[in-house]
Amino acid sequence: MTANELRKAVLGVKRWSRADQRAPNKPLMMAYTLANYINGHGQMFSFEDEVEHQVNDLLKRFGPSRKSYHSLYPFWRLINDGFWRLDNAEECLPRKSNTDPPKSELIKYGVTGGFNDEAYQLLKNDTQLAMELLNSILSESFPESIIPEITSQLGLEFTFRQVQKRDPNFRREVLNAYNGKCAICGFDARLNDDLFALEAAHIKWKQFNGPCSVNNGLALCSIHHKALDKGAITITNEMRVQVSSAVNGGGMVEQLIWDFDTKQIQLPRQTECLPLSSFYQWHFENVFM
Ligand SMILES: [Zn+2]
Repeated sequence: MTANELRKAVLGVKRWSRADQRAPNKPLMMAYTLANYINGHGQMFSFEDEVEHQVNDLLKRFGPSRKSYHSLYPFWRLINDGFWRLDNAEECLPRKSNTDPPKSELIKYGVTGGFNDEAYQLLKNDTQLAMELLNSILSESFPESIIPEITSQLGLEFTFRQVQKRDPNFRREVLNAYNGKCAICGFDARLNDDLFALEAAHIKWKQFNGPCSVNNGLALCSIHHKALDKGAITITNEMRVQVSSAVNGGGMVEQLIWDFDTKQIQLPRQTECLPLSSFYQWHFENVFM
């Protein structure tokens, strides 16, 4: 296997199987593995002692909100993608309903997993390659505002410079449509005449084919942009703010977040600029916690 073959295999991992729904299981499993290699971890990871809890924690923090989280799926299913290895897996019996064994089997037989020998050798000898792959995986699955949190959770003390292309007009058009104010709180600070801490947010993420068009944008201050990308808030059909019941904190959180719950957002005048329902519904289903 060459570095290019590994790149192709990793970036070709089937992850959008359910159209444009967020399914970050495999990306987070791969990111977890690569980050640990960068930090000097050996080739194989114990399902029971490491993956089950640590990858579940990542899925819970950075995946869409679910009743339960299953790190077993990506750990087991990456074997179909051509660069993954499972040890002690032969004995595990699949459940009747699908091809995955229950996690009790993985624990019983002490199953371990990691990149296969060839891929691991490449990554071990070339930390730059591991970092490049990690960057690509995260950039394809998460917006810029979230990536530093993931790398920090993965125990890395650096984040990546984004290489994604961005429509240069998006920010200007969105800020103009919203009259240079945060759609939620009205924040419009300027230094001389330059707006600062006011950003053009994508409602449906670029990573899931959300377009750089004004009807997929919101002008938001830095706090509300982050809250939207984290799924702490979303926009309802009536163009009101909905705050996740998972949000807590002190008095400033009351003022900056909770006080806007159920409040109408400030909308652009032109109807063609209004947020499209398919975009905020995607956000509600895939990002809102
Ligand atoms: Zn705001």
